[in-house]
Parts: sequence; C-alpha cells; structure tokens
Amino acid sequence: MINDHNKVIIDLKALAHNLNEIKKLVKPCTRIMGIVKSDAYGHGLLPVSQTLETNNIDCLGVACLFEALELRKKGIKVPVIILNGIRTRDESRAVVQNNLTPVLFDLTSAETLARESAGQGKKTPVHLKLDTGMGRLGISCADAGDYIRRIIALKSLTIEALISHLSSADEVENDFTEEQIRQFDRAIAAGRSTGLDLPFNSLANSAGIMAYKKSHYGMVRPGIMLYGGLPSPGFISSARIKPAMSFKGRVLQVRDLPDQTPISYGRTYYTKGPRRIAVLSAGYGDGLPISISNMGKVLIEGKKAPIVGRICMNLTICDISDIRKVEPGDESVFLGSQRDETITGDDMASWADTISYDIFCSIGRQNIKEYIR
Ligand SMILES: *Cc1c(COP(=O)(O)O)cnc(C)c1O
Repeated sequence: MINDHNKVIIDLKALAHNLNEIKKLVKPCTRIMGIVKSDAYGHGLLPVSQTLETNNIDCLGVACLFEALELRKKGIKVPVIILNGIRTRDESRAVVQNNLTPVLFDLTSAETLARESAGQGKKTPVHLKLDTGMGRLGISCADAGDYIRRIIALKSLTIEALISHLSSADEVENDFTEEQIRQFDRAIAAGRSTGLDLPFNSLANSAGIMAYKKSHYGMVRPGIMLYGGLPSPGFISSARIKPAMSFKGRVLQVRDLPDQTPISYGRTYYTKGPRRIAVLSAGYGDGLPISISNMGKVLIEGKKAPIVGRICMNLTICDISDIRKVEPGDESVFLGSQRDETITGDDMASWADTISYDIFCSIGRQNIKEYIR
C-alpha cells in the first residue's frame, strides 16, 4: 500500500480558510456541522477534525459509529453526529457512553437507544431523518408528524433537529430543490405543532450552502467545500475556496521515442513523430483514476504534460516533448499546484467523468500523508 515515491500533502490552513469562507455565506447564528465521513474525504479524520474543532466548528458529522468512537478516543469534544444511524443494543450503549448524537430513521432503533439511555440515566440527543426527495435514508415527510410524536414519547431521547438531504442542489435553477425545501418546511411545521422547538434543523450540503440560502435553516452541513472541491466539476461558485489536498510523485525515467511507438498496455496510444516521454511514479493503485488515461494532464517543471497511453498500477506515462530540462527524480504533480499551474480535484474529476469526492477518497486512502499546519 505504501509507495514511497509519492505523497499526499494536506494543507490544514486551506481547510481553516474554507471554513471561514463558509461562515461568510451563512448567518452568524447558523451552526456548522463539518462533514468528516470517509476519513474526511480522504484527508485524514483526526487532523481534519482537530483543525475544525480548533476553528470553532459547532459539530462534526461522520457516517458510522466506528468513526465517532475514533474521534472520542482521540479527545474530540464537540458533538459528533452519526449520519448513518445505529442499530444494535451494543451500538446504542456506546453512543450513550460517549455522548454521541445518532441520526434516527426508524422506530426500532429509537426504542433500543431509548432503553440504553434510560438504563444509563441519561437523555440522549438525536436528529430525526426525513426523506424530502433523496430517496435514501429517512422517513417519508407524510409520516413526519406521527414519527416525531412517537420519538417524543421516548422520554430518554431529546430531538435536537430534523435533518434531510438535497439530491440536486448542484444543478442550476432547480425546481426539485425548491420542492425539497417545501417538503422540509412542512415537516418542520409538523414538528412545531407537536410543541417541538428545533433550532438546528439542517438540509444544506455544500451545493445548498452556495446556491440556496433558503436551505440553510439553523445548521448547514458542508463536506466537499471544506476540502476545496465543488459539488460537481461544472458548478459555478463565487466562494473563494482553496483545495486542501495535493498529490505528488516523481519522474522515474525520461526517454526519447521514435515516431509510431506504442505506449503502455493495449497500445492505446502511438507517438506521432519523435516524442520525449516521462514515466511517473503513480498509477491507479495509488488512487489515480484509470479513466484519465489519454485524457488527463500532470504538472512537470510548472507545465501541463498530457498523459499518454493507459495508466498502469503504479506508473503513468506523459508526453514532455514541449517541456525542457526534465530529469529523473523531478517532482510530478498529479493534484495541486506547481509554479503557476494547478490541477484541481474537479479538473481530474471532469477528465475521469466523476466527482472530486471520488478523486479525494481514492487518492487519500492510498498514500502517505503529510500535513501543513
Ligand atoms: C456527505 C454528506 C453531506 C456533505 O455533502 P457535501 O456535498 O460534501 O457538502 C451532508 N449531509 C449528509 C447527510 C451527507 O451524507
């Protein structure tokens, strides 16, 4: 798993900067839940969470209990929301013991949690998940009132917020998002009619934060923005966010090849004329998407060099005919900046026909990380 030619560099100052940019987009009283699931989108759960906590994040959101316990073990004090919920008695016990906040979307797990909570003599905060159109986790909005009443009846739980998720806020001028906002408003009204005061309701992901002020409610849940990525590669945003992740490797060999030389597996590329190529130290085994073969670019000597031929497990070939003075050992940048040029996660995502989330998770997972604090 460790390829010591390469490294991922995480700029925690960029992360703090991005959090500040988010604060500028929301009202001063709006809470912020920093989303750190999947090892903080590949950036490293603990260093990212510590940076967010130091910069006064209100709470953190993880996918599962394991991540939440990891945060508590390492001394993270802010509320931690478990977005994908919990199921068993053991999980419920761990939640109560560690002052965690699960998202609930069914009554059985709510009852299990309520029993554990009562047993430990505590009141456990929960967020109730509603489906406003994502078609994923949650209770249908039509059942919101009934569901809320049943959870209220479980005296050892405290409902802190209703929560729902936007499916399409990265698309321009979107009626579907407007409809999700209306649905969420109705569910909140149903909650109010049972006497609940819910100051931290949340609906907005990064796309909602940037494109739909109406979706902010009492709390917002940025993920990709914190890391300096966009909700989709073509998303237009005025927020001045900075990428936090860079991925660097090295030139292993420089070669001059004659006209019509096939390059890499499957001979998907033939040189047109005599070309100079560089063989680089990372491939799909190091998290690069194989689909940027013959599509993507890398930075060498501050210039963009096109990737030629198919990306291999730990090697990539690029054409450096237009770049002078490249030598084995030189730095190659797959993601990030070199002199005046930059390749962003969204650039790579558009070459690969994916989203920057996917790029960050893959590259972050596979590499030694260094932190700039
Ligand atoms: C991942 C996630 C987010 C963050 O989404 P981004 O698009 O990365 O901002 C917010 N809320 C929930 C429930 C999520 O699962």
